[in-house]
Amino acid sequence: MRAVYIESHGGPEVLQYGERPEPSPKAGEVMVRVRAAALNRLDTYVRTGRRGQRRNFPSLHILGGDCAGVVAEVGSSSLSYLVGRRVVVNPRIPCGACDFCLGGSDDLCPRFRFLGSNCEGSYAEYVCVPATNVHAIADNVPFQIAAATPTVYLPTWNMLIRKAQLKPWETVLVLSASAGVGTAAIQVAKSVVGATVIATTSSAEKATMAKGIGADHVIDYTEESVSERVKELTGGRGVDVVVDHVGAQFFDDAYDSLKRGGRYGICGVTSGYVVNLQLGSLFTKQLQVFGVFMGSRADMAKVTQMLNEGRIRPVIHQVFTLEQAAEAHRVMEERSFFGKLVLKV
Ligand SMILES: [Zn+2]
Repeated sequence: MRAVYIESHGGPEVLQYGERPEPSPKAGEVMVRVRAAALNRLDTYVRTGRRGQRRNFPSLHILGGDCAGVVAEVGSSSLSYLVGRRVVVNPRIPCGACDFCLGGSDDLCPRFRFLGSNCEGSYAEYVCVPATNVHAIADNVPFQIAAATPTVYLPTWNMLIRKAQLKPWETVLVLSASAGVGTAAIQVAKSVVGATVIATTSSAEKATMAKGIGADHVIDYTEESVSERVKELTGGRGVDVVVDHVGAQFFDDAYDSLKRGGRYGICGVTSGYVVNLQLGSLFTKQLQVFGVFMGSRADMAKVTQMLNEGRIRPVIHQVFTLEQAAEAHRVMEERSFFGKLVLKV
């Protein structure tokens, strides 16, 4: 099969396009004919060997997590009803046997694998995953849209719906609206919950796009203070919830924007890991700061339902062919995009 793999760590040029053996599904697994794979920041870490992703070569490794396609083969006859189904793949594979998994909190599984990181990924014609990791998509949901869904909507759903329990009368501050999680958070907060959305971004063009997908107000953080502008927009009260997927860079300003009883969710630290947390305001304003990492299978089922009902729709910035994976990685590292980068397979 055609696939994109690495034989060493490095820049986008280490991504190789070529033939690899087809995988075959084990018991309980399905083999998906991948039709689209979406890029995530993790893919670039796997490529460069940064952020805990260093691996031993010479074993070749196929990159890629998020994907969608059609079930082509199954590893157990009891799964044969899945053959031919159009599916989206949840790239996080919990162990299924630990206390967390058995207790229904599979998002807390410490022994999970991640497609394209701990096992062969989806930049390929075929990929094998447990049958519990595929969710059926409606006929009118394009593969490229479905592929762009899991890694940005899962943490967003976990954060806004399950943990923060965002309400329609509340206001949410979404940091860096142009990235995948930013666009997902605007849509879930607006289309699913009906909350008021304030987004931050870095240009007038991105601000227009953020408004186009549901942001009520957009703050250009290169020109104005986020916390001061939030005060103006909320009549001095502040926001109920912050969605932070970038880490240290905006923490102080966003934390200052929380109203009493506010909740601060974190699902990424691309701009830095370490911040100063003001414990005084944490307890006197009764704030919550919490992290989410992806979501549970139940969250994925809900996200897929929202996708099938058309209530969420990932924003796609650009589509590349599988052969152009290196070019797609270059675009991701330039950070000049709005939405997701997708490979069609
Ligand atoms: Zn587990």
